[in-house]
Amino acid sequence: VNIMMLTKREEHIMNYQDLANLIFPNAKPISYYEEKYPSRNLLEGAIVTRFAPSPTGFVHLGSLYQVVVARKVAKQTGGVFFLRIEDTDKKREVENGVTGIIQSLKDFGLMPDEGMISETEEIGNYGPYKQSLRKDIYQAYAKHLIEQGKAYPCFCSPETLEEIRQKQENAKIRPGYYGVWATCRNLTVEEAMQKIKNGNPYIIRLKSPGREDRKIRHHDIIKGNVEFPEHDQDIVIIKSDGLPTYHFAHAIDDHLMGTTHVIRGDEWLSSIPLHLQLFQMLEWKAPKYAHISPIMKEDNGGKRKLSKRKDPEAAVSYYTEEGIPKEAVVEYLMNIANSNFESWRKANPNASLDEFDLQLNKMSVSGALFDIVKILDIAKTVISKYTAEQVYEEALTWAKNYDKELEKLLEDKTYALKIFGIERGNEKPRKDISKWSDVKEAISYMYDNEFLKENKELEYAKIQDKEEIKKILSLYLEKYFAIEDNKQTWFDKIKDLSEELGYAREVKMFKQEPEKWPGHVGDISTVLRVTLTGKQNTPDLYEIMQVLGKESIEKRIKRSLAE
Ligand code: GLU
Repeated sequence: VNIMMLTKREEHIMNYQDLANLIFPNAKPISYYEEKYPSRNLLEGAIVTRFAPSPTGFVHLGSLYQVVVARKVAKQTGGVFFLRIEDTDKKREVENGVTGIIQSLKDFGLMPDEGMISETEEIGNYGPYKQSLRKDIYQAYAKHLIEQGKAYPCFCSPETLEEIRQKQENAKIRPGYYGVWATCRNLTVEEAMQKIKNGNPYIIRLKSPGREDRKIRHHDIIKGNVEFPEHDQDIVIIKSDGLPTYHFAHAIDDHLMGTTHVIRGDEWLSSIPLHLQLFQMLEWKAPKYAHISPIMKEDNGGKRKLSKRKDPEAAVSYYTEEGIPKEAVVEYLMNIANSNFESWRKANPNASLDEFDLQLNKMSVSGALFDIVKILDIAKTVISKYTAEQVYEEALTWAKNYDKELEKLLEDKTYALKIFGIERGNEKPRKDISKWSDVKEAISYMYDNEFLKENKELEYAKIQDKEEIKKILSLYLEKYFAIEDNKQTWFDKIKDLSEELGYAREVKMFKQEPEKWPGHVGDISTVLRVTLTGKQNTPDLYEIMQVLGKESIEKRIKRSLAE
């Protein structure tokens, strides 16, 4: 080629190429990556989405919420949900951060279809799924932008940047590296190449085509139409350590990994102008965005975000530690995701969550209020549907990690299964357990060692008089107690006992003429209940007595008689 015949623009392009080659001599052409990661072969309408946390060692309930939503929409459309680890900010990283994230997903039954599955392993054809292992890819795209004059090396030292910031502050101008302030964008290629050859340190910046006085409009699936000034900052895309910044990396990854929907927290909504600009400059179709509102908490009459610092329940580990079953937490998050979930659940009490059709565009624009009472209520129902065996296994697994005393109580599996079997598997199952940490309190009275060791005063209800109580108990033991009785006979006998002692044998009779009786059959069975369990409210007393057995019942009654 005759150099004299090149136009000014062509000359530039040749120069940009030299610059790009000088900076990234070994980067592959981007066509290599475009071929290596072809479009996914999915059905029309399939949603590909991801969870892209930084391994900072903390998983917030809000992140789990995003996972539940993202995974669900991928599943219900025949798409893919993957886990990408965004570890390009080495300062924020903690040891075992990745393991912690994956463990949390496992604990809640929310493992991804693709991506990282342990600190070092991954599945899927679009990896590596850990950004720090994708350095070459980002550099290839940075090189591509430099070749087109869309990115450039910047040699400004931290001190120079600080000076610029000071000047802007003094003049009350918007801070940042943009427009006239972006001094390195005006260096000629020759100047830049000279500085590099001289060994001056540099980073790579995007040459933003944006103008602050123009607006961009964008449609967010959850937030609706939003409008922002165009982005005009020349952001850093490759840092001095050769790693990309989050913004740059996310655009490349979501493009190459075939993300169709970016579903994430709304703290990222304001990055939309930059993110769309990146896609535009790279000449790619941008994914759709759905920005989820944070979970809120009531505080002093006001509302604020559920806070990692202030609220223990903001950490997903809290639910595991408390022993709240994962299904309950996931179901609660579905509940706040779509307001029609609750009526769907009422109509389909036993349906799997997979059958619910979650709609991103029905998610609320303002944040849902966190409600632990609701979570525990859901948990109660979830546990009430478990078999005794399931309750046993889950409670034992929890106890092994968090409560040695409970683990010991559960040693005798046969007996524990009998206890958990009380009022279970029927139409109206027992609902006295909402978390595994409730179990010890809910069952310890069923163990003689526990119940009899406590010398605590039993709290009787209506009938309080010690002598009267002894009269009731001794007559019951002598004349009416027989372990082999069926439920009907057992109850008839308590009625007979009531009558013999001058109490109403039916509650109805008592209600009609309350002055006539000192109390009714219910008051008598409460005496029995408190004597045998120490509680005024328990599951079915007949079933409890069947599990306790003759010997234990006699011991318990005799203890009260001896007082
Ligand atoms: N790594 C970002 C974070 O830590 C991900 C944001 C996104 O999902 O695009 O939240």
